[in-house]
Amino acid sequence: MGLLAGENKAEVVPEPAERVVLKKFHTARYLHTLKDAAEGKFEPDALGMGIGTPDCPVFSGMYDYSAWACGATLTGANLILSGQVDAAFNPSGGLHHAMPERAAGFCYMNDVALACTVLAEAGKRVLYLDVDVHHGDGVVYAFYDRSDVMTISFHETGKMLFPGTGFEDEIGAGQSKGYCVNVPLPIGTYDEAYMKAFNAIAAPLIKAFEPDVFVFELGADALAGDPLAHLHLTNNVYADIISTLRGFDKPILATGGGGYHIGNTVRAWALAWTILAGGEDKHDMSIGVGGVISESTEWQGGLRDRMLVVSKQQQEFVTSAIDTTIEKIKNAVFPIHSL
Ligand SMILES: [Zn+2]
Repeated sequence: MGLLAGENKAEVVPEPAERVVLKKFHTARYLHTLKDAAEGKFEPDALGMGIGTPDCPVFSGMYDYSAWACGATLTGANLILSGQVDAAFNPSGGLHHAMPERAAGFCYMNDVALACTVLAEAGKRVLYLDVDVHHGDGVVYAFYDRSDVMTISFHETGKMLFPGTGFEDEIGAGQSKGYCVNVPLPIGTYDEAYMKAFNAIAAPLIKAFEPDVFVFELGADALAGDPLAHLHLTNNVYADIISTLRGFDKPILATGGGGYHIGNTVRAWALAWTILAGGEDKHDMSIGVGGVISESTEWQGGLRDRMLVVSKQQQEFVTSAIDTTIEKIKNAVFPIHSL
């Protein structure tokens, strides 16, 4: 589709993240154990670090793959810091579940936590926005006591889905209370309800925080048809959010994340990049069927998903849950920011 090159666009070859950089988030002990496991030396404490579990199996090249994925996100962060670009996208990144000393949820190294760290070290106020269907726990808890990095995570409620965290009352600790925002969503959440929550919570908080840069974890597993989750979104939500972020006129470092319906995920990220790069979806003129509606990967109708039908029952259930969540967050967080 010509999205990787052209006026004001380029594909950049990343460098793998160096060990010294990885240690800004991960412990030396963990990195050592991970590298050993990748080379076939499985240490007894590896399992305790989540290495070799069903979600995070051992495979050769696992260390290098993770270091490359982190390196790509950090390459984007550095291009933004040097002022060379105002948007960068690493679809291989967004490994938000990795903890300092634990692999979790298909994530071995946390590129997004590292990027937020590097940007904050450069003196930037960082707004981390996570729209992956799973709670962005690894990043959220890394900055739980810091007010220079605000984290906002929209996700399917932890009552239904891994990792089981990210409720409205998790708002940060001590001086940073109010700089951690969690928006749990009910099953069946659809576009209009999602954007209602986004506009009611994220938009005013971003405005109040006045970030210098966005780190945007764009997992596509919140789309309808994803086999691992239960939300009911179309990719128009991602397009709308990116348009809103672009309106703040600050650099955006975007990454991929989850997304287990491959066809829908690829299309969502292609659309996201189109809009991030400042273009509109010009391929959207034909009328098509398929995509999220039929969960077909043989989509011929442009990048945007067609509207989904929402039943009255679904509408009532979702709206009532989301209204309660919005109220809880407004009460707990908004006064801290004089909103
Ligand atoms: Zn996910």
